[in-house]
Amino acid sequence: MKPRVLVVEDETSISEPLAEHLSRDGFHPQVTGTIAEATTAYEVAEPDFVLLDVMLPDGDGRDLCREIRRRSDVPIIMLTARGEEVDRIVGLELGADDYVVKPFSAGELVARMRAIMRRGRAGSEVTSKSPIVIGAISIDPSSRVVTKDARDVQLAAKEFDLLLLLMSRAGEVVPREQIMDEVWDPHWFGPTKTLDVHISWLRKKLEDDPSHPRYITTSRGVGFRFATPADVKD
Ligand code: CA
Repeated sequence: MKPRVLVVEDETSISEPLAEHLSRDGFHPQVTGTIAEATTAYEVAEPDFVLLDVMLPDGDGRDLCREIRRRSDVPIIMLTARGEEVDRIVGLELGADDYVVKPFSAGELVARMRAIMRRGRAGSEVTSKSPIVIGAISIDPSSRVVTKDARDVQLAAKEFDLLLLLMSRAGEVVPREQIMDEVWDPHWFGPTKTLDVHISWLRKKLEDDPSHPRYITTSRGVGFRFATPADVKD
């Protein structure tokens, strides 16, 4: 089945040629021009990929990005105009997988879409499939369910990937660069503030006292370490 791509873009001079290109490349595009239309289309079609403009007639695409990310792991690429305040970090903090700056070539965009889809598949192949339980926290890589004290904890896609990496290497300090490589982008060379932001989100969701973490500790200047079962035994 062709991957379904929801295109949210109000400029038809961009969306029409893009949709043609996507069809030729084996995708099934659906074009919408407003947040309202996109929200309905998203619920009906459950797309495999979302391409999302920032400035839309009825609102900000970044809000829609957050909204979609709260519900699903579907890959999202933001389509931004030069000068819009969506730098790399902001885009990633919104939960978007990547962004392109207009004008972009449809060929380049499709290459990035394929890279994200490959990464998703590769990630699921290399990761262990057995659940890991440390102290009160458990993570199940196959169902992507995380619990604390047997209660479900809702995590965004990147938070989950980050937690899985740290828990599968419990007791080791995992260097920041390696985390950026494995969880974000294999060619990361920018600032890593997004990593600290995600760590603080994870602590808020998982630690009894996020300001004095027991599970995820910082090794200053190096990286982060997830506790071993012995570390968190009361
Ligand atoms: Ca626009």
